[in-house]
Amino acid sequence: MATPTTLLLRSPFYTNPNPRRTTTTTIKASNNPPPPVHHHRRPADESIRQEAHRRNSTDHNFSAKYVPFNADPSCTESYSLDEIVYRSRSGGLLDVQHDMEALKAFDGTYWKSLFDSRIGKTTWPYGSGVWSKKEWVLPEIDDDDIVSAFEGNSNMFWAERFGKQLVGMNDLWVKHCGISHTGSFKDLGMTVLVSQVNRLRKMNRPVIGVGCASTGDTSAALSAYCASAGIPSIVFLPADKISMAQLVQPIANGAFVLSLDTDFDGCMRLVREVTSELPIYLANSLNSLRLEGQKTAAIEILQQFDWEVPDWVIVPGGNLGNIYAFYKGFHMCKELGLVDRIPRLVCAQAANANPLYLHFKSGWEDFSPMKAKTTFASAIQIGDPVSIDRAVYALKNSNGIVEEATEEELMDAMAQADATGMFICPHTGVALTALVKLRNSGVIKPTDRAVVVSTAHGLKFTQSKIDYHSKAIPEMACKLANPPVNVKADFGSVMDVLKKYLLSKDSKK
Ligand SMILES: *Cc1c(COP(=O)(O)O)cnc(C)c1O
Repeated sequence: MATPTTLLLRSPFYTNPNPRRTTTTTIKASNNPPPPVHHHRRPADESIRQEAHRRNSTDHNFSAKYVPFNADPSCTESYSLDEIVYRSRSGGLLDVQHDMEALKAFDGTYWKSLFDSRIGKTTWPYGSGVWSKKEWVLPEIDDDDIVSAFEGNSNMFWAERFGKQLVGMNDLWVKHCGISHTGSFKDLGMTVLVSQVNRLRKMNRPVIGVGCASTGDTSAALSAYCASAGIPSIVFLPADKISMAQLVQPIANGAFVLSLDTDFDGCMRLVREVTSELPIYLANSLNSLRLEGQKTAAIEILQQFDWEVPDWVIVPGGNLGNIYAFYKGFHMCKELGLVDRIPRLVCAQAANANPLYLHFKSGWEDFSPMKAKTTFASAIQIGDPVSIDRAVYALKNSNGIVEEATEEELMDAMAQADATGMFICPHTGVALTALVKLRNSGVIKPTDRAVVVSTAHGLKFTQSKIDYHSKAIPEMACKLANPPVNVKADFGSVMDVLKKYLLSKDSKK
């Protein structure tokens, strides 16, 4: 950073939303500053997208490219984000690498003030929690090309009763990433991927549609963002293996739904073969663009704590892209001077699909993929995770831990959380189980600040809750089941059950 051309100066383009804070930033003399913050009213006949187009905020020199993931520093292989490439030359994963020197021209105070100034506004595209960090996500895309539902900015729930009663903690939080456009955190990644596809199409690159083989949350997010931009989406689904609830979102959003007589892995193989022959862009989870959007949830957590770093962040993991996205978001905040450390990360797996847990327990000795067994946490029922290398990297570099949850543990944890005012999905039940276990073993201290990441909305997983509360799950006690009481419709019967109920509550005072 300390080049001869480096000057310490006050950026003339920057309006400080908090005048008591100093806005001094170190910038290289040759650098253009990032987009200024505007406080004027746009003309009445102009839409927010047209306004963004007129403002043309890509007038800076931030950039990003694809590089092989965790490559040797001497490696020179890289690709423009405008190329259609999913894997490195050697067949490994790719990573989006930002020009950190250009970003470092501005100090941590600058970035914090800029991000804070965009929260809760409708200015296109900054009303989105993802695009409010645009310079760190896809710096070179025109605001005009962005496809966004103003995703992100999800609420952080202070888990007061769960914290006090179940783990003896005062500073426990649940980051509700699933309270989102299509009901899961997949929206954070899909807005980035579909925006880039939108740009490629405008550049006349050969992309007619976007395809994926996911059965649940990924296909829902893909079809919604594609529909919003008028881009054809194609979803490969295994016939008769998914529920109506999982099917209805892509169907409603007008995706081309292919029902195939095979399993998920068979769909995955087919979608990869087909996308190499036809002009269909592949939206599955090895695509590193999605992680750029997902990492903003980590930045948001810091922002919501006024840039104080929590001690623990617990993330449920399946294909293992998200745990790395959280690491990347936290690490970028540290590298660019917004915070001085990162939280310890915990990846939580279902015991029925726990290849990372077994790998961790072996001291990172030998990784072997497995055949995942059925779990209520269906979005993490994955035995051969695509992003295994990314996850191991994230955990090793954050002093991380891997925990697991049995079916009974995750369902009881979900029911317990619901009984304290949440309505979480089974995957969040896995993460809460990890918290409980690490509290019981004393690894997480009562005074620690911990954040449990909730990945999907509970309303997407009502069938599992119905099964639990009607005690319809074989070999599970369902000890927190709260089934409705059948009562005769007369005054006496209703009074009898109500009196019994109130007495039971009174004795618990
Ligand atoms: C996709 C998904 C996950 C797992 O994320 P990975 O990046 O695959 O580890 C967890 N929970 C829900 C609800 C999901 O949709």
